[in-house]
Amino acid sequence: MRKSTKSALCAAIIIMLFALSACGGTKPESSSFQAMDTLMTLTVYGDEEIGAEIKEEILSLDRALDATDENSEIHHLNTEKSAAVSEDTADLLNRSLQLCGDLDGFFDITVYPAVTAWGFTTGEYRVPSDSELKTLADHIDYTAVKLSDNGVRIPDGVMLDLGAVAKGYAADRSIELLNNSKAQAAVLNLGGTIGLFGKKPDGSRFKVGIADPENPAGYFGYLSCDLGIVATSGGYERYFERDGKRYIHILDPATAKPADNHIASFTIVTDNGAKADAMSTALFVMGLDKATDYYRTHDGFDCVILTDDGSLYITEGIYDDFTLDSGHRYTVNRINKP
Ligand code: ADP
Ligand code: MG
Repeated sequence: MRKSTKSALCAAIIIMLFALSACGGTKPESSSFQAMDTLMTLTVYGDEEIGAEIKEEILSLDRALDATDENSEIHHLNTEKSAAVSEDTADLLNRSLQLCGDLDGFFDITVYPAVTAWGFTTGEYRVPSDSELKTLADHIDYTAVKLSDNGVRIPDGVMLDLGAVAKGYAADRSIELLNNSKAQAAVLNLGGTIGLFGKKPDGSRFKVGIADPENPAGYFGYLSCDLGIVATSGGYERYFERDGKRYIHILDPATAKPADNHIASFTIVTDNGAKADAMSTALFVMGLDKATDYYRTHDGFDCVILTDDGSLYITEGIYDDFTLDSGHRYTVNRINKP
């Protein structure tokens, strides 16, 4: 994950400003650190110690889940094909496999060999041949992952990648820690996956900026939110170009090729971090039409979709909570439930 540190920092600053003004002068504890290959910023009101605990929790998850780290549980599993994993990792694998099914395989945690083949793990980018892609796509299959209690088995040729859910899961774990703390309110910016916690004394809502794909240090709009998670997936932060074509790090599990469907960014608002993170990746891959159908046939989440022709699509549950930044001239469309 080679996230733009600048944009993550800027996001953190804007969110902090809103949080600050909304908490009637109570001074927040704020800290930033690198984890999961991105910048994370925690802003907590009412508890001076919990920030350090959250940081430890996230760093420990990162050590277990990073497939590129030779010492991680996922790396061990990917090389040995069978291993006992920690309770946290088993819990996340269990939830991830459920999400793969719920999201009709558009989210698939076995994309790792394909992600590696394109060079996204090393930065040594290449375009695999058609026959290589066919073999890679044949090995993307979350149903091949066998999980029983803490034991995991995967077949040869299959490798796990939890990169599309790890930050969302980290947000869930952090919010659990906040629930058991003195903290009154918190804004967690985990590299673009935003977790909101608590109640502000003045009753005002959190305001979350959504990164502008043209200039990820800025925002194209803002969402007013209470609790929950706001997760955005985009093709603008990790990609490479060959012969005038852009290849992004979000892959279509059916083809092992980067998603190429005119989506510029896909934001999900829901109550759970792992779900929000997996969904933003999966619905990005689905594209506008399939994602709209998915919204109309499933409950419990809302979306802000930006297409590369500058059209915005906002689902009805958050339509009135969205404010377009004054510098952007996108056409705004509303998606309704049937
Ligand atoms: P980011 O991690 O940059 O915020 P995402 O949450 O969308 O972005 O996750 C993208 C990462 O997840 C990729 O770098 C890759 O490791 C992995 N990935 C890519 N495509 C998929 C997919 N369709 N399903 C599951 N994981 C994916
Ligand atoms: Mg994701």
